[in-house]
Amino acid sequence: MSSNYGQKLAGKVALVTGGSRGIGAAIAKRLAADGASVAITYTKGADAAASVVKAIGSTGKKAIAIQADAADAKAVTAAVDKTAATFGRLDILVNNAGTALPAPFEQATLEDMDRVIDINIRGVFVATQAALKHMGDGGRIIMIGSAVGERVMVPGLVPYAATKGAVKIFTQGLSREVGSRGITVNNVQPGPIDTELNPAAGEWAVPQKAQTALNRYGHVDDIAAMVAFVAGPEASYITGANLTVDGGMNA
Ligand code: NDP
Repeated sequence: MSSNYGQKLAGKVALVTGGSRGIGAAIAKRLAADGASVAITYTKGADAAASVVKAIGSTGKKAIAIQADAADAKAVTAAVDKTAATFGRLDILVNNAGTALPAPFEQATLEDMDRVIDINIRGVFVATQAALKHMGDGGRIIMIGSAVGERVMVPGLVPYAATKGAVKIFTQGLSREVGSRGITVNNVQPGPIDTELNPAAGEWAVPQKAQTALNRYGHVDDIAAMVAFVAGPEASYITGANLTVDGGMNA
């Protein structure tokens, strides 16, 4: 795969939170294919994380995996600092770690709400603040928000959608604060993408698929391609933007 791409990210260092599987693993592999050295975080999937590191290593690129729960501020800060210490710099942060606890709103618990806030918003706050300490001119902060951060086409996602709406406005606000440093902040908003979090097979997938214009789920590489573009030099005038990759779900 790597031989088919240019090396637009040669010399760059990226950290992808939640990079052991799903969308984050695809992003880590794609950024490495484009030339970056990559760190990923994970919580439980040490084997999965090791296999992503191995896959990147087999293409001649550098990668490390760091256990860091997005809900643990100290661990997240340490992961950011370790990435910069290992590779000597930090150019790209992809805030991908996230979770959803789907339930009809009246059955959702306060614990569910706290959990999605801790991972999807608080984790983004901590990682981004830590990363900005290391980032220089041309840095890239990339959020993985969600199409449901703008329009909610299916039931059961109120707490999750609220956190992704917060990620959207976080992106817009932060872009104004770091623009003077030449750092861009963008929010990639996936629609239904086939992963363990949102499998394309099963009952839960039926209404989501039906809401897309293309009548199908997307692939993790569809999101990785957008992230790689935003991370690259051609996207230097894109900031504060919400970039939806959803098969037309929100059309
Ligand atoms: P998956 O559940 O398939 O993968 C999640 C990844 O994040 C894993 O590598 C997991 O590793 C890691 N992770 C989970 N919890 C934490 C945590 N607390 N701290 C650090 N890492 C964690 O999810 P997806 O790939 O589907 O989703 C990735 C992102 O994309 C999320 O932000 C999600 O909200 C967003 N998204 C996904 C959509 C979809 O349809 N799939 C649609 C819209 C947005 P481990 O298990 O080891 O912790």
